[in-house]
Amino acid sequence: MTNKFKKYAKVAVDAPIFDILTYGIPEEYSDILSAGWRVMVDLRRRLATGFVIDVIPEPDINPKFIKPISDVPDEEPILTENLLKLCKFVSDYYIAPLGETIAGALPLGIGIGTKQIVFLVQRPEHIEDYSEIQQKIILLLAQNSLPMKKIVQKIGRGAMSNIRKLERMGIIGRKYEYRVQSPPKTVNIAHISQDVNDEIIEKMESKAPNQSAILRYLKQNGPTIATQLRKLFGSGAVSSLYQKKYIYFEVREILRSSAGWLTSQKNIKRLTDSQRRAIEQISRALESGDNKPILIHGITGSGKTLVYLEIAKAIRKLGRGVLVLVPEVALTPQMWGVLHNYFDEDVAVLHSYLSPGERSDAWRKLRQGKVQIALGARSAVFAPVKNLGLIIVDEEHDGSYKQGRAPFYNARDVAVVRGKYENALVILGSATPAVETYFNAVNGKYRLIEMPERVPGAKLPDVELVDLRKLRPNERVFSPMAKSAILERIAKGEQSILLLNRRGFSTSLICPDCGYVPKCPNCDVSLTYHRVGDELRCHWCDYKTPAPDVCPNCGSENFKYRGKGTQKIEIQLYDFVEPERVLRIDSDAIERKGSLNRILEKFASKRGSVLVGTQMVAKGHDYPNVTLVVVIDADVGMAMPDFRAGEKTFQLLSQVAGRAGRGERHGRVIIQTRHPDKPAVQFAVKNAYKEFFAHSIARRQELDYPPFSRLIRIVAKSQNSQLAENTLRKILRELLKEKLSGIFPLSPTEPPIAKLKGEYRWHLLIKAKDIRNILPFLRRVARAKFKNVKVRIDIDPYDMM
Ligand code: ADP
Ligand code: ZN
Ligand code: ZN
Repeated sequence: MTNKFKKYAKVAVDAPIFDILTYGIPEEYSDILSAGWRVMVDLRRRLATGFVIDVIPEPDINPKFIKPISDVPDEEPILTENLLKLCKFVSDYYIAPLGETIAGALPLGIGIGTKQIVFLVQRPEHIEDYSEIQQKIILLLAQNSLPMKKIVQKIGRGAMSNIRKLERMGIIGRKYEYRVQSPPKTVNIAHISQDVNDEIIEKMESKAPNQSAILRYLKQNGPTIATQLRKLFGSGAVSSLYQKKYIYFEVREILRSSAGWLTSQKNIKRLTDSQRRAIEQISRALESGDNKPILIHGITGSGKTLVYLEIAKAIRKLGRGVLVLVPEVALTPQMWGVLHNYFDEDVAVLHSYLSPGERSDAWRKLRQGKVQIALGARSAVFAPVKNLGLIIVDEEHDGSYKQGRAPFYNARDVAVVRGKYENALVILGSATPAVETYFNAVNGKYRLIEMPERVPGAKLPDVELVDLRKLRPNERVFSPMAKSAILERIAKGEQSILLLNRRGFSTSLICPDCGYVPKCPNCDVSLTYHRVGDELRCHWCDYKTPAPDVCPNCGSENFKYRGKGTQKIEIQLYDFVEPERVLRIDSDAIERKGSLNRILEKFASKRGSVLVGTQMVAKGHDYPNVTLVVVIDADVGMAMPDFRAGEKTFQLLSQVAGRAGRGERHGRVIIQTRHPDKPAVQFAVKNAYKEFFAHSIARRQELDYPPFSRLIRIVAKSQNSQLAENTLRKILRELLKEKLSGIFPLSPTEPPIAKLKGEYRWHLLIKAKDIRNILPFLRRVARAKFKNVKVRIDIDPYDMM
């Protein structure tokens, strides 16, 4: 029996399926396709994107079932060998379908949108024989073929199933269209052909003066953008010359550039001792070819950035590439400015707030090696940096590195793996390293570099606690101490940052008279008041409702503005600060493209005295003129049922305290809390990381929490709470049957958010001494089908809600 195809491709399809499928490679591609290429394939009669994982000479399934690859959209493989390997790791470890993992690693702009077009094959003679819906569909298509989406919109329920029925009867057909989203922007550059000499140009003079003028122009000015020639001499003349082959076009890609703002670095006269030592140690490691990951534990304001930059410079000198990760999109503009100062145009930014076009441009520039430094948040860990030599993970402890949806990867951990694959050095940096990371460093798995003092002139700020319990209710947003401190800064022309940890929890409306809290009917979490639109919003689903003027429960008119959200803080702030002086960032502000940049830039250039924000303001920013930081409510988060609650609070308070006193002037931090004695608060006040670490690691060991085990969280979601619970109990029973060693499951429980987007949730936590023992079982769970229940598996979870 002869094979239908010369070669076959193993394809990971961008769909929620774990199997790698086999497709035939059409003749014309059989010598081209290899692992890493993107292809279009037919998946259950739908055109889907897939990625070639392997090419094999013989079919590995019954050839009868093998369909050909439908199309190949790119000119080169979209993934390098190393990136493909990295995606395989992420897919294996975090238990996510490989095709979806790869698709998620590519920027949106180079994704492919598919469109199903439905058309009428033949109009039936007796239309009245068909059902009402079918008649409607037929009449709709009689005029025009239409995209599936349109038909579903117009017909509503039953559209799809009836389209399938009509298709089976041969009345209608379907075809698929796809387009590459935001294709590269290109221009045509006109060149003069070699064999055009002066004689030819002169001869043309009388008959075609325009054409000869063009040739003369090109001789004089060199290659010119074709549209410009057309404008100058008319398109007819340009086309004629092209047809005569007197000129030819070169297609050149234009890259849309993206940026942040330029910072004027102050002149750094001398490296501090710790900076010099850190640079020396890392350089020595590099020279000896030792690629053990490095943790730089440097207190806030110790000048870690300069160390990153110097090492990056050394790496670039070797011709190798650099990847810089920051935890929040909000931090990219500042880091971009710093990098741009050092490396000019050698930097590409990749992050989710860029337009798809900008992102795919940045991605292409990196892929082609036109720039070799990539900067971005979480997903940039997959940036296709050429000849990668260094990965920097700034603020490595930050929970934002963990992706909150499948695949639930942690970019910091993926960075360490990528470093291994690409033989690149990985530098993790933080003032408050994650307990797991510091544990790796003291254990010798990572190399530890300490930077214990601030750069000259910058002293650690004074940290003061305000016990909210001792204050009157109306003083609990701005304590008298905070209020006078803010006013003092304004009088001196200095700046303040006001921090409210998290949107959503402390921002709920509470009726001051009866205690009523409006909750989301879908999610069982409290709603938040938004001044824009005067409405209540759920931060878990899209639920919105107009804000009631009086309490729905008791009718009190004191109801409104009771929350302590960022907007509420603003309103109280306006009682003593002019609104023009106040700037605010939260995720509302950054959803609008460019608006975050504008706000931060404004604050950096000292327009605005007070910056109000969520935890984003606590991270990494460096504003020398900030001399006061107020933590409005340090308790938010401390009461969360999460073994990291203390660590998260410690990190937040330490980080935010680090924002003050970075310039010459002395800084002050005011922390408002109801729990001034908690260890997390006390260690943060004393800036005592090592003591905090010792305290935490002892507790972790006692309870067998990470790093002494790995945690796995299985969440079951269903419209029926009982069903979700039973599913987890069944999984638990199966797990116990396996008798795996070192695997300790807890019992299924309801998580703090027991209902979300209309679904009930249950979760099951499992501690694993050696995670490899349980991964095969978990992969089987991931592939299993559960009726009316969605099950997802989060390895090394960060969010316990
Ligand atoms: P962090 O360790 O918190 O990331 P940064 O790298 O942001 O600290 O540095 C804090 C500030 O100190 C920056 O404004 C930086 O320009 C400045 N700085 C860094 N190194 C020195 C130095 N050797 N002398 C003086 N200022 C420095
Ligand atoms: Zn009330
Ligand atoms: Zn909701």
